[in-house]
Amino acid sequence: MSAEAFTFGRMYHPWGRFRDLAHFTLRWAHLPEGVLGVTDFDGKTVTLAHGLDQAERRSTIAHEVEHIDRGWSPCTTREECQIERAAAQKLIGIRELGEALAWARDLEEAAEELWVDVPLLRVRLQHLHPAERAYLRRRLADEGTDEQDTTSETRNQ
Ligand SMILES: [Zn+2]
Repeated sequence: MSAEAFTFGRMYHPWGRFRDLAHFTLRWAHLPEGVLGVTDFDGKTVTLAHGLDQAERRSTIAHEVEHIDRGWSPCTTREECQIERAAAQKLIGIRELGEALAWARDLEEAAEELWVDVPLLRVRLQHLHPAERAYLRRRLADEGTDEQDTTSETRNQ
């Protein structure tokens, strides 16, 4: 994980990032069940599925931007996982994540607050950097007990 991905408080704007990719065009289509978006490197298009809600569109465009940034590669599960992780890291800042988790009653509510879909939030939570985990532990401990934090992570505090 890069130091940049750990930056606090800077909102990532996937639509703005996509607009910067002037050579790619956005299209909408009916895609197969379960497919939210597709990047076509030959046709230089990103196609999003009809019927996505705002959070799904935002999560999907972040995923497709990640594909474009990395360039074409054979679509393996491993590559998909890395892309989903990168998109989740960019879309969900650790501070925002802490606030949402402290406040929300379940993952659905937290995802709504973070303006992402639930699968992307799950990926973010499954791949926390140890320093992020420590930050969340502290943040969530603030809400309730005075649990002692034994880590020495102090960045940006
Ligand atoms: Zn993908």
